[in-house]
Amino acid sequence: MQQSYLNYINGVWRPALNSQSITCYCPSNAQPIATIPASSAEDIDAAVKAARNCFDSHVWTRMTATDRGRLLSLLGKEINNRVETLSALESMDTGKPLSQARNDIISAARYFEFYGGAADKIGGETLPYLNDYQVMLLREPLGVTGHIIPWNYPAQMFGRTLAPALAMGNTVVLKPAEDACLTPLVMTKIAEEVGFPAGVINLVCGLGPDAGSALASHPEIDFLSFTGSPEVGAHVQSLTAQNHIACTLELGGKSPQIIFTDADLDAAIPIITRAIIQNSGQTCSAGSRVLIQKGIFDTVIDKLKDNFKTLIAGSHDQDCDLGPLISAKQKERVEAYLAHVPPEFILAQGTIDSQASPSGFFYPPTLIGPLEPNHQLSQEEIFGPVLVVLEFNDEDEAIRLANGTRYGLVSGVWTRDGSRQIRMAIQLRCGQVFINCYGAGGGVELPFGGTKKSGHGREKGLAALLEFSQIKTVVQYIG
Ligand code: NAD
Repeated sequence: MQQSYLNYINGVWRPALNSQSITCYCPSNAQPIATIPASSAEDIDAAVKAARNCFDSHVWTRMTATDRGRLLSLLGKEINNRVETLSALESMDTGKPLSQARNDIISAARYFEFYGGAADKIGGETLPYLNDYQVMLLREPLGVTGHIIPWNYPAQMFGRTLAPALAMGNTVVLKPAEDACLTPLVMTKIAEEVGFPAGVINLVCGLGPDAGSALASHPEIDFLSFTGSPEVGAHVQSLTAQNHIACTLELGGKSPQIIFTDADLDAAIPIITRAIIQNSGQTCSAGSRVLIQKGIFDTVIDKLKDNFKTLIAGSHDQDCDLGPLISAKQKERVEAYLAHVPPEFILAQGTIDSQASPSGFFYPPTLIGPLEPNHQLSQEEIFGPVLVVLEFNDEDEAIRLANGTRYGLVSGVWTRDGSRQIRMAIQLRCGQVFINCYGAGGGVELPFGGTKKSGHGREKGLAALLEFSQIKTVVQYIG
């Protein structure tokens, strides 16, 4: 039976004011699984007002940072306690294999644990100034923060964007993605149960151009955190500019994995494969280009081919190597990218599980190349399980190719040469560099964000606490 989910505004669960709803489908079989409200600007307005009233009433800001942190940690603990139910829901809603969904729920809990612990450890400073003056820099919350998140990691994004904002004393309005948002709804219910005061967390479901635009343009939000496509990122930034508020944008990438001739290939190849098939390639930090140094090109290709041929895409509950894409639209997008690739460039493909529903949005993992650096598939984010292969001669060319797209989110460098590791890390234009590893350990503690068209601002780690707070300068005459 389909479950009907509701918005959560000012501590009350309620349908959209227009009574409209959106049907959610399981990507593995295209079967309807739930309905969510199709909210409009009025619902967003009610949520922002609730968050504003809550912030202005100081219920949340006057709670000690220690108590706020305890509540966040408690939410993390309760998410962990329900890891099996939440994993099953995340897996069904997004199509990702159950074991990946389980890791995502554990990461979501970890965000609340990490920021819960950090809440009372971030303070202000004093400054040396004129004689007889004392200067204090107070670190304060921004007020009401808006959050628009995508469908690829709904549970993790819930923790990643909300936990640091809440830890710093902001009240929040979340607009999750219409394609997958069930775990954020359930985790909001858990937040209510563990005792978050009404108005601190508000969640409004709906379509991007309706609820999303209404949130980004609302005059009473103080900050917007957006994760999604570059096009919508530019749009929401133009909306926040009208109200002169700041935003962080996390807009994806075309992240290179750079393999030099001295790399440990046995270590590199499985990690490089996993970095593109995880979540069926629908990951902003997916390692979607592999740059291989001349001399080991054929060896690396052979090893990658062997790996790709064994990969199986299947239903989320079968826990195969990868699941389906999120929607028919996303599958069509990936197919359109691949439609004009001559067959000789398809180096290897995995398979689709024979048990998988023909209605599911499956796409087999695909290895393509060698492509020219300016080829569309070497440049654009496909957001599917497609790994593009390029060749380079030397370090300078590796840097040029790695930096030669409009994106700059993450890079992987595979070499045993310690000096080269550092030279590469310094010259790569991106927000994170992994050396002889990639995306190790989930990275809740590691500042994360982009350069160029990958966006701006930093999430994760203690850096996120600075994004969600501001400095007030207090100058006191004490002479
Ligand atoms: P999107 O940018 O349209 O959606 C992301 C979020 O923005 C969703 O919550 C959506 O409802 C909201 N949104 C959409 N239109 C809006 C608008 N006009 N105003 C305000 N909010 C709006 O992304 P998509 O269409 O779901 O995916 C398209 C492409 O974006 C993907 O193929 C991929 O390349 C990229 N993408 C990147 C990420 C990432 O993690 N960086 C996540 C999802 C998608």
